[in-house]
Amino acid sequence: MTNRFETDAIHHAYDSKDHYDSLATPIYQTSTYTFANAEQGEARFAGEDSGFIYSRLGNPTVKHLEERIAKLENAEAGLAFASGMAAVSATLIALTKANDHILCSRGIYGCTFGLLDIMRDKYNIQSDFSFMESETVLRQMIQDNTTVIYIETPINPTMKMIDLEMVARVAKEYDIPVVVDNTFSSPYLQRPIDLGCDIVLHSATKYIGGHGDVVGGLLVGKEEFISEVAMTTQKDIGGIMAPFDAWLLLRGLKTLPIRMDRHSDNAEKIVAKLKAHPKVKSVYYPFDPDHEHYHIAQKQMKLGAGVISFELEGGKAEAQAFLNKLSFIKLAVSLGDAESLIQHPATMTHSVVPEESRQHMGITDSLIRMSCGLEAWEDIWEDLNQALEQM
Ligand SMILES: *Cc1c(COP(=O)(O)O)cnc(C)c1O
Repeated sequence: MTNRFETDAIHHAYDSKDHYDSLATPIYQTSTYTFANAEQGEARFAGEDSGFIYSRLGNPTVKHLEERIAKLENAEAGLAFASGMAAVSATLIALTKANDHILCSRGIYGCTFGLLDIMRDKYNIQSDFSFMESETVLRQMIQDNTTVIYIETPINPTMKMIDLEMVARVAKEYDIPVVVDNTFSSPYLQRPIDLGCDIVLHSATKYIGGHGDVVGGLLVGKEEFISEVAMTTQKDIGGIMAPFDAWLLLRGLKTLPIRMDRHSDNAEKIVAKLKAHPKVKSVYYPFDPDHEHYHIAQKQMKLGAGVISFELEGGKAEAQAFLNKLSFIKLAVSLGDAESLIQHPATMTHSVVPEESRQHMGITDSLIRMSCGLEAWEDIWEDLNQALEQM
């Protein structure tokens, strides 16, 4: 089918006729599946019969989600995990062996950073971090034993961006797979595979779920790679997704395009207000024309999504005073929910990052990160504004 994104997000890979005419995808809450006879059981284990065997190896509800996310990312195949971190770890472990090297964007999710520490301590897998601001820088950072380039863009929480098309082009020369954590954009706003990248993963907990009620991870890429992960670092490590969680994510995906449009629209309006406020020192948002990487955002993202970071005049005390004055905007980590969520990276999401790296990444003590929700933007601004006035 060659439907448009919005239609695929609702219909792809599901036919009611195969499920007692049920409009919604049924939840196949089963751990195992029955074989008609011994020969069929043998054929399933041999991979000659595509029927299900056991839910750690595949489940119909989960499979619908996997096919749908693959379609939306324009990838050959997809795989669902218990969490974003289960997807990240299964991917990085599949792509490395002892003594390899991983090149990362400077700024990756805190627990991904933690995973790299484990991999270094246990298997001597070293990692380096770079803003990959040019081909030259990228070439300098690639080593003989580099087996993965791992990127987040926009980079949390400073919203710096990496040119995916450029990185993919250079990586191809060295035959190194490029993995993109696309959580902050969602497939509706950014499609790394279309830009030449190889593997895309998500914390589906964020925009794809969209309602703050499920933790999950998704991975897409070439059929060969996805089946390798399915049969090794997923099957044998075991971070699979539950059928109910897949059902919640299928439901979330149906409204992803309209939610992302609204998140982005609200964020753009709030950015304009923040930039004009005297107590706000700087604002970081991909679609802000004053952003240092605005040209990259314009090239590879459809809209700027919902996350805004901004620095207040003052330091940690001022930042905390501001947060404590908010009324309905929720003080919480995570992002991409209907509710606006706000947090203080230096003491929360990035508190484990060593002080020096934090400075290098631009995470100051007065930096605030907000995930702009789906409320009326005027109300979001009124709440921010009264807190700024009172701090
Ligand atoms: C939240 C997040 C993760 C981890 O996902 P979980 O679902 O919490 O395991 C990974 N990468 C990014 C960019 C995230 O925001």
